[in-house]
Amino acid sequence: MTIAVYQGVDGAYSQLVIAHYLREAGLEATTVGVPSYREMATTVASLRADVGVIPIENAIGGTVREGYDLLAEFDLSPMAEVHWRTDHRLLGVPGAELRDVREVLAHPLVIAECGRFLAGLDHARAIPCEDTGVAAREVARGGNPAVAALAPPAAGVTYDLVELAANCTDDPNTYSRFLIVRSRHADGDHPLASKPQSKRRKTSLIFGVEEKTGSLARCLAILAERNINGDKLESKPFLGHGTERIFYIDFDGDVDDANVASAIGELRRCCRTLTVLGSYDAHSGAPIGANEHPPVAAAVAAALHARRIEAIPVPAETPFPRVSRISRPEGTALRVGNVRVADGEFVIVAGPCSVESREQIVETAKAVKAHGAAMLRGGAFKPRTSPYAFQGLGWEGVALLAEAGRATGLPIVSEVMTIDQVERMAEQVDVLQIGARNMQNFDLLKAVGRAGRPVLLKRGLSATIEELLAAAEYVLSEGNPNVILCERGIRTFEPATRNTLDLSAVPVLRERSHLPVFVDPSHGVGVRRWIGPLCRAAKAVGAHGLLIEVHPNPPEAKSDKDQAMTFGDFAEIVAELDRIPIASLDRHSAFGSAPPVGKAAGVPQ
Ligand code: PEP
Ligand code: MN
Repeated sequence: MTIAVYQGVDGAYSQLVIAHYLREAGLEATTVGVPSYREMATTVASLRADVGVIPIENAIGGTVREGYDLLAEFDLSPMAEVHWRTDHRLLGVPGAELRDVREVLAHPLVIAECGRFLAGLDHARAIPCEDTGVAAREVARGGNPAVAALAPPAAGVTYDLVELAANCTDDPNTYSRFLIVRSRHADGDHPLASKPQSKRRKTSLIFGVEEKTGSLARCLAILAERNINGDKLESKPFLGHGTERIFYIDFDGDVDDANVASAIGELRRCCRTLTVLGSYDAHSGAPIGANEHPPVAAAVAAALHARRIEAIPVPAETPFPRVSRISRPEGTALRVGNVRVADGEFVIVAGPCSVESREQIVETAKAVKAHGAAMLRGGAFKPRTSPYAFQGLGWEGVALLAEAGRATGLPIVSEVMTIDQVERMAEQVDVLQIGARNMQNFDLLKAVGRAGRPVLLKRGLSATIEELLAAAEYVLSEGNPNVILCERGIRTFEPATRNTLDLSAVPVLRERSHLPVFVDPSHGVGVRRWIGPLCRAAKAVGAHGLLIEVHPNPPEAKSDKDQAMTFGDFAEIVAELDRIPIASLDRHSAFGSAPPVGKAAGVPQ
């Protein structure tokens, strides 16, 4: 049985699309709805579902950019595109009358598609809803004849609603584009592996160029010179990166066509960033959109959760196939808000060991931002050796950290210690830190792997490099590819420093893994005056970023006071670091010039 996952509840368009696609492919399938696109993506990426579906564009409402971004973030591979005719009906509870409707629940894209119809409904206002299935379900649950939903006829059948109006879209030809996706790590036994490819293939890319005259034209010329037909182009500013714009583009052809491959090679040279989302079967003919009514999925949701991670094909040679450099020779760059990690910028994460008060964290946030930090870090749940030592402010600390993050615009990082903290922490912080003491708390690693937030994973006090990589594999195996590895010192026989900062781990990790590598000299040496030199060494040896503890008044810090920098010390360190160039991989390393396996794309980051 093929398991397909979509965002929404029974009756959502995504469910109709995926069920139709799989039926056409001759597969017996179960469709399972999850609350968000992000969860859909992690479910597919972790192989707990075979396929997923992402809405990507609506003919009237425009691009659903989140769809493209999720493909890139979760390494999903598009297989086919489906154009689905959106046939919206106004559905109400039995006995409802069109003239009595006061509220219309609908997905924002559906509201856009039905603008004229809604404008003509006197006294009714549109209320956005996460998907069409939810809109229909809420109308049925509420039982209020004054509330109706814009949804497909199938949703009316599912929820016993009656049709109050048909042909609600502004243009009867409107349709939505959906992409059917699977994990790039799915093996040859994938249920759709034997499906023949259609003759017409399409490729989607995301690229970023400097905003200067002619840079987009140059990229388009590369396609035109090769007679490649562009199908769609959309741009957005790269917020916080004033001189760069991001473009989403679809064009005809497959990355395996020589013509397309040469265009992509050329584009890489002109673009600041370029991500190939993949090639897939293009939709042919008119949009489809039958009056579909797939089986109710609730009873089978359990099947999805029962799918064991053991099902993931793991090559025997390495305990960390997804973390290994071999799986991504070009390296992983990730974004946290507007901050680019391992993408040509050296990232400094700074803040106090513990959040202690509003004044302390806001003052620190402003100071570290002014001196060049890109993210703010503060502990709210502290792993302390003694149970009588300050344990952190808990959720109050998280709220204060979030406040300081908002006040300065800095993304925030905080440690999560237990599984039951993960979900709530993921709602409030941008990066989940796993502390050294929890590096091998495997259930916690799996939980953060499902949380949909980047993870900063610290090396354990006496963990080997291989154990750190295997710990990261737990996070990736759950579908979260966004992990930053962090060397923070290990326990040795040497008592002069708090730990022994193993800077040799940096080139080793960079060679063995594609993940970004940070260094935390604060915990590494534990002595304020030695942190500066080690920050410089870490940058020189190839770290992508640093974690530095900073406090407005170090002697008064409630934890780790001996290693906290003053604002002045921090400013000096950053100024010194600015003079050290970012190190690229050493050309003598195994991946420095040519990765031994896989297609190399540019210089490994
Ligand atoms: C910290 O970051 O404050 C911390 C407790 O770090 P580690 O887990 O590396 O000891
Ligand atoms: Mn600390």
